[in-house]
Amino acid sequence: MTLNNPQLPSKSMTHHHTHEAIQTILAVFRERGHEEYHGEPVSQLEHAAQTAQLAQRGHPDDTEFILAAFLHDFGHLCGTTPEDNMGGYGTRQHETIGARELRRLGFSEKIARLVEGHVQAKRYLVSTDAAYYAGLSEASKITLEKQGGLMSAEEQRDFEQDTLFEWHLQLRRLDEQAKVSGQPVGDLGWLEVLMREHLEPAV
Ligand code: FE
Repeated sequence: MTLNNPQLPSKSMTHHHTHEAIQTILAVFRERGHEEYHGEPVSQLEHAAQTAQLAQRGHPDDTEFILAAFLHDFGHLCGTTPEDNMGGYGTRQHETIGARELRRLGFSEKIARLVEGHVQAKRYLVSTDAAYYAGLSEASKITLEKQGGLMSAEEQRDFEQDTLFEWHLQLRRLDEQAKVSGQPVGDLGWLEVLMREHLEPAV
């Protein structure tokens, strides 16, 4: 019961929590990463890894953006009940579920908000960019309807006020690109390192 170093217990607790959080993420990908990315020619893990790689290429120093890219569909892997599943097109409100789970595991608010916003970003882009809509995969066009369809002008204005607006759009465009079949996932060690750096406060 010593009080002479009050930092020590909380620091070791944080490290413990970091380890648990990373193990939780990796276990979920291990168990369910092979699942099909809803009607697309890639698995969940391939899609997550490709999105992270694209984010890393564009913003090599932005750990939060890269991790948001890696984890943006994490909520799809958290849904369990059949009624959560939109007829084989994934977990309903997976963006909200994912964001909640990531906050719980200690990820930053920016990451949680980017994850939470990636469906709205799709609705926004579809509503404002005809070329974007034309480039959507068939599966993504089908889920669009289940996700609320087009945004009204008012919804668009609200979304434009989001402080992460540009980031939401960037992440969404990478999301659409990250569906290349036959591309090796590679070692995920670098993402594990980024998660550790992010979750452990600088000491
Ligand atoms: Fe995605």
